[in-house]
Amino acid sequence: MNYNKALNHNIFKIISRSAKELDLDCYVIGGFVRDLILDRGSHKDIDVVAIGSGIELAKQVSKNLPNNPKVQVFKTYGTAMLRYDDIEVEFVGARKESYQEHSRNPIVENGSLEDDQNRRDFTINALALDLSEGKFGELLDPFNGIADLDNKIIRTPLDPDITYSDDPLRMLRAIRFATQLNFKIEESSLKAITKNRERIKIITKERIVTEIHKILESDKPSKGFLLLEKTGLLEYIMPELTALKGIDEVEGQRHKDNFYHTLEVVDNIAIHTQNLWLRWAALLHDIGKAPTKRFSKKVGWTFHGHEFEGSKMVYRLFKRLKMPLNDKMKFVQKMVLMSSRPIVLAQDIVTDSAVRRLVFDAGDYVDDLMTLCEADITTKNPKKFQKYHNNFKIVRDKIVEVEQRDHIRNFQPPVSGEEIMKTFNLKPSKEIGIIKEAIKEAILEGDIPNEHEAAFNLMLEEGKKLGLKIHEKR
Ligand code: ATP
Ligand code: MG
Repeated sequence: MNYNKALNHNIFKIISRSAKELDLDCYVIGGFVRDLILDRGSHKDIDVVAIGSGIELAKQVSKNLPNNPKVQVFKTYGTAMLRYDDIEVEFVGARKESYQEHSRNPIVENGSLEDDQNRRDFTINALALDLSEGKFGELLDPFNGIADLDNKIIRTPLDPDITYSDDPLRMLRAIRFATQLNFKIEESSLKAITKNRERIKIITKERIVTEIHKILESDKPSKGFLLLEKTGLLEYIMPELTALKGIDEVEGQRHKDNFYHTLEVVDNIAIHTQNLWLRWAALLHDIGKAPTKRFSKKVGWTFHGHEFEGSKMVYRLFKRLKMPLNDKMKFVQKMVLMSSRPIVLAQDIVTDSAVRRLVFDAGDYVDDLMTLCEADITTKNPKKFQKYHNNFKIVRDKIVEVEQRDHIRNFQPPVSGEEIMKTFNLKPSKEIGIIKEAIKEAILEGDIPNEHEAAFNLMLEEGKKLGLKIHEKR
């Protein structure tokens, strides 16, 4: 096969010419080739292997490009990178690798193209296209990667047991690619991953999280989490999730399997949002259920306070995975903490005051919270399914209606603490808090509108109740 027509971007011609000037061969390899053949949108990262110095080739390419982009050299890795248009090209000399037990960082020597293809993780990632002038666009596929692309199979070029043991990150990459591309992991690979699962411990948390994010960003994330579970990797990465597995039965009463339920929720939410953190919230929304699970004869299975427990677990999980403990984490916590609120609300008649309280507590995230709760409906009973969705539609409509009228989102008290102090000639004191709380409660209950005049009058009443005197010289 020749793919010279697909390499129509002029960067490839320029790389080709530069290689000729240096009298070396070079190839475009890996993800770019894979995605080109799969027709998976345009891949903006190009990996080029030179049989010789990748750094020299990068410098030559820069010389030949208009406005000579800066070449970033990574000496320790023997690689160099440059940007052209919106494309990032990485150059590396072909290498041969050998591994040692304790590390995923191999000993590296110069090698041939074949050596370099041998060190690639999967057959579909080892495809190379020749960039030299006479053979421009020719495919080099020593492991039948094209057949694996056609048959949608993830397979390692060499012995899977050695491949995964050498660099355990590949276990996660296999599962991640299977999820992103909707491919099947070949049987002996799956076995080797299961066997080597414990070696995931030598991989840094940051790299693990990168792969988890790519799984979560896929169209159907459940595929990846099911594979993580099946191979035993999930137990090492997120035991909070595997703890949700299983159905208990006491005296004929069963609860649902919260692991599979969670995965359904994640797939549901993936249809409605690309927001990675909202997808995280879906993944973690029930983690508090494992530690709070109780059985009582009277009410059967309960998970009291699982939302609160879950939100605390979010912090610990993020911390353990070395994820930033920033506003994204707080967002996930908030979603988990509030994840049952709209459900409770929609079970009954949807009152304005309940909706106002929801909007008050969720603030700007109320829409995300509704999206989460809609995804949370996984009942197989079509009548119930319809009923819950209808109720949420009512809640959503009411949110808009109440918001237009009462402006509860990002609530600002219509009477400020300062105004209260001035009115009653007060120093900062607990009375101010009491009055403010009474005003807020009255607005949320719908006893007074969210307006200054009504709130001011209520302040006077409340002040009177507290025995405060109006300051004359106001
Ligand atoms: P994407 O960029 O979409 O994640 P990719 O295949 O380009 O996919 P990269 O991580 O950018 O993935 O790596 C580029 C190439 O380097 C891969 O296609 C593969 O050939 C090789 N590679 C990357 N990581 C490994 C690894 N851990 N073991 C072996 N080869 C790897
Ligand atoms: Mg890439």
